[in-house]
This record gives sequence, C-alpha cells and structure tokens, in this order.
Amino acid sequence: MIALLKTLTALFIITLLCACSPSSEPTSESPNDFLGEAKSGSSNNNSKPAIQSKTNTPATDDFPYSFEQVANNTWVMHGPLELPNPENKGFMNNPGLIKTSAGLVVIDPGSTLHIGNNVLAEIKKVNQQAIVAVFNTHVHGDHWLANQAIKTAYPDVKIYGHPEMINAINNGAGENWLNTMNTLTEGASQGTEVVAPDHSVDNTDVIIVGDTHFKIHHFGIAHTKTDIMIEVVENSVIFLGDNVLSLRIPRTTDGTFIGNITTVQKILESDIKTYVPGHGPTGDKTMVEEYINYLTLVYDAAKTAFDDDLDSSDVLAISKPATKAYKNWHGYEDLLGPQGAQAYSEIEEAEF
Ligand SMILES: [Zn+2]
Repeated sequence: MIALLKTLTALFIITLLCACSPSSEPTSESPNDFLGEAKSGSSNNNSKPAIQSKTNTPATDDFPYSFEQVANNTWVMHGPLELPNPENKGFMNNPGLIKTSAGLVVIDPGSTLHIGNNVLAEIKKVNQQAIVAVFNTHVHGDHWLANQAIKTAYPDVKIYGHPEMINAINNGAGENWLNTMNTLTEGASQGTEVVAPDHSVDNTDVIIVGDTHFKIHHFGIAHTKTDIMIEVVENSVIFLGDNVLSLRIPRTTDGTFIGNITTVQKILESDIKTYVPGHGPTGDKTMVEEYINYLTLVYDAAKTAFDDDLDSSDVLAISKPATKAYKNWHGYEDLLGPQGAQAYSEIEEAEF
C-alpha cells in the first residue's frame, strides 16, 4: 500500500513538472505538488526528515511582521505572498488573534516552530492574556505546523481542526509537510514537531470561549476536504482559510473547483462584515467575490473547451484572456495552465 502510494506520488510530481493534465484526485495528505510548484525543474530532495527537538527557539529580531486590527477584538498578521523559502523561513500565511473574556484565541499560527515563536512574541505586544484555544483551517502545513510553539507555551490550550485533518495527520500528512517545509526553507523549520489538533469540529459546531462564539462552517470538499471556516460571531469576522485567497493564486489540486465555488457562495449568503483570506489582504465581500470570479473564469474556460470538443491543453488559450485582470497575482503564470487542465478533468469526470 505504502509502495503504491509512493509510486502514485512520484507520478503526480512528474505530471505537475510536465504541466500536462494533472490528476484531479484530491490528495490532501500530499504536499508534493506544493514542492513541485515551488521548485519546478529542480531536484526535489525531500527524503531527509526534519531534526526533532523539544527545545523551544527564541523569537528573533528579523521578523518584520506584526498584528493589525481588522475588527473589534480581532487582529491579523498578514504574511508574505511568496511560497516558503529560506528568506521568509517558511512564513506565508495570515495568523489571526481574537481577544475574548476568557483569554486569547489563535487561528493558524504559522508554518514552523521558529515562526510560531515569533508570532507568540507579536501576540504579547497586542495582549498579555493566555492563549486558550487554537483553530487550524486545514491540513496544509504552512498554516498549522507552528501549533507546537503555542502548545509549548500554553500546554492546556485546545487545538481545533476538522476530523478529516486529524485523519490525514494520523496517516502521515504532518511528517510529509515537515519534510516539505524543511526542503523549501533549507532547514529553517528544523526542530519543528507535528502537533495535531486535539479537538475535532465540524459544520454548525459552535465553540464558546468566554463572551465569544466561534461558529464552524464546512460544506464538504472545497480547497481541500479538511477545511473549516471560523466565524467570530460577535465581531462579524470570518476566517476563510485557503477557500479564499487575495492577490495570490491558490493550489487547487487537493480540492475541486465546484466544491470551492459553492462553499464560498454559501458563506457569502450570510451577512458578515470582515473576511480574512488564507493569504493576502483582509477585505469585505468584494474581495471574496473577486476570488470566486477567478475560479469561475477558469472553470468556465474549461467548460467551453470541453463543450467545443477541444483538449485540456486548449483551456489556457481561453482562460488566459479571460483572467488577464489577475495576471499580477502571485503564482498566476505557473498555475493557470495546470488549473485549466484540472477544471477540464473535473468536468470530464462529472460527464461520465
Ligand atoms: Zn492551503
């Protein structure tokens, strides 16, 4: 079984490096397409495991990020848009911070122990209360491998995630992500250990922390099959995870276009003021609509190609002019082609 998985994973990397039609089979346990995307054309030596250590590394002074208030009692640290690399030490996501009457709540603390310790140091500049809960939006390691830093500093903290995320980690997704992060950052994630969510949450669950309600939304497969979106009811804010990105083109290979589009359309039906994407600037409904528009344009281009009896490789000629407003988004050049092919194979599968 493991040998089969390894073979399939190797085939998957080759497929991506060739930029020919990628598998549409969602594999939220495998970070290898992330690696392929970042190191396209170079050799992927991700066989070396991260060095394991219980030592907590101190925060460093070369961390130029801080929390910005985006709503009442709510802050976001907007990470860089680049993929993990030695310079950003793996940091690329949007950690969130919510102050409640019972302590602090953190959403997606980041990608490594080192990043987590820096995020902790920045949290202390906002508020000195203890962290009592953490939510992880999905299984991709850039969002949650820093759990370790929070758990070390606050051993009683509860870490919430979707049951499919916990499943994936039980099946090795955490170790795969540690290796990927270590390779991409050339060792900046050393010392990081897998600390998985210890509490599972699913659609309609409400976690009450002091005076604040955290409402969980999950409508099936979207960016991955492990996503939760966390609505902070009193503050009219929602943390969307990577179901919505801003100024960055997403990895879509662990999810589906239709799943992602319908999930976000459901969220837009509710009247929330502030929307926090997994990457890129926080905004209002317009920001979310702009993102869904991108996914829809790619999907529609694939549908046109399919209906006209063209090949998946022909989608790009249609999607490129249709999405030119997004050409400056990070990852656009690399991802538009493979994404058109992915959308095409989703449409093809749905037909048969
Ligand atoms: Zn992701």
